[in-house]
Amino acid sequence: MKVLFVYPRFQRHAQAHPELLQYVPMNEYLGSPSLGIACLAAVTPAHWEIEFRDDRLTPADTPTDADLVAFSFFTPAATRAFELGRYFRAQGKPTVAGGIFSTAMPHISAQHFDSVVVGEADGVWPKVLADAQAGALQKRYETVPCELGSLPLPKVSLYIDGEGPSFNPDDYPVQLSRGCPLSCHSCILPVSMTKTLREYPLAHVVGQLDQLAAKGKRACLTEDTSWLPGKGNRLLMSMFDHLIEHGQQARVSYVGISMPMIIATPRHLFEKARRAGVTMFYLVGGFDPVTMRAFTGKDAKQLERAHQAIAKCHDVGIEPYTSFLIGQDDDDEGTVDRMLEFAQASGIRKAEFAVFTPYPGTPSWTRLQAEGRILHTDWSRYNDANCVYQPRHLTPDQVTEAYLRLWRDFYADKRHFLTASHDERTIQF
Ligand code: SF4
Repeated sequence: MKVLFVYPRFQRHAQAHPELLQYVPMNEYLGSPSLGIACLAAVTPAHWEIEFRDDRLTPADTPTDADLVAFSFFTPAATRAFELGRYFRAQGKPTVAGGIFSTAMPHISAQHFDSVVVGEADGVWPKVLADAQAGALQKRYETVPCELGSLPLPKVSLYIDGEGPSFNPDDYPVQLSRGCPLSCHSCILPVSMTKTLREYPLAHVVGQLDQLAAKGKRACLTEDTSWLPGKGNRLLMSMFDHLIEHGQQARVSYVGISMPMIIATPRHLFEKARRAGVTMFYLVGGFDPVTMRAFTGKDAKQLERAHQAIAKCHDVGIEPYTSFLIGQDDDDEGTVDRMLEFAQASGIRKAEFAVFTPYPGTPSWTRLQAEGRILHTDWSRYNDANCVYQPRHLTPDQVTEAYLRLWRDFYADKRHFLTASHDERTIQF
């Protein structure tokens, strides 16, 4: 038996807006696929042969001898995933879809695939394969949250073995936990992975780091949940302790965080992160009360807190690679100037800019749907680079202009990055 895993392509910032390539003196970095397929490959029984196609690198719609075609995708890739689903079904291949979009909108995925897995698929995956082998694939599989300590290491070799000139990431994601007890208005994580924070055992995290290091790769920790007080950041600190004790610095490329978490985290924990070799934070903005208010021009307190957060990063020697979100309801024609002024005054050297996108399944999506403000459901435009809803004070065109101006003006005086080292000038955009 053979299963073909497909990671469908999606349009990235510079593909949606090619002028960004002129504005931004940085390398566009094609990151790793999400861990979903690597996790499923790890729990695929040995009698199943595995093939993996990354549709971003080579179009996946070519014939296959696989017995089952499995898709994992998030919203920006949904349109392409449906196209690929139709292609393989026309070839007579059974298809199954999972991942964030199918979890949030299973009724839509069900129109395009023979079967849909809702939620974390690791636990149910062997049954899906057994059903496929018996010719009895169910239309829908509901899952329960996984006991993370029981899972094998994700099979990231599936991705790394496919590297070539157009895909050669320095880092791959390492997962410390799943789920989040908070419910930030634009975040899908509590929906796709539940509201219960579940951590991996430290040995599993170290195993993930080790298997990447063995391939010469660093780890990126994308989720800001690692900093949540309590069991969340206890595991992160244990991981840092492990790295320090073993003299294994520089094995982590960046750690995701938000401004409230920077403010709430005691300084000595950042110093430990620095000692463990962390030199960059991926500072996510636009989801939290600080960054949602700091650039409105009406909340001096949150602006001051935002300045404090950046200063704290600089103080401990960790670069805040900062992500700004434009196009929210409080944004107006002055927001771009205020964001740029803040970036300049606080000394942010590297930033990215995204358009607020109400992803299906999030609280924002539910609210804006109810208010009749979702403009369309062309999922390929749900990619942080297009305005897909009607904001309160700006038109969608104004949001797009603001987004492009942020990229252009922020990087206008940073042409020196053109001759900087690979590490210095590499960002995902
Ligand atoms: S943005 Fe972070 S803290 Fe907020 S719900 Fe998502 S994972 Fe949790």
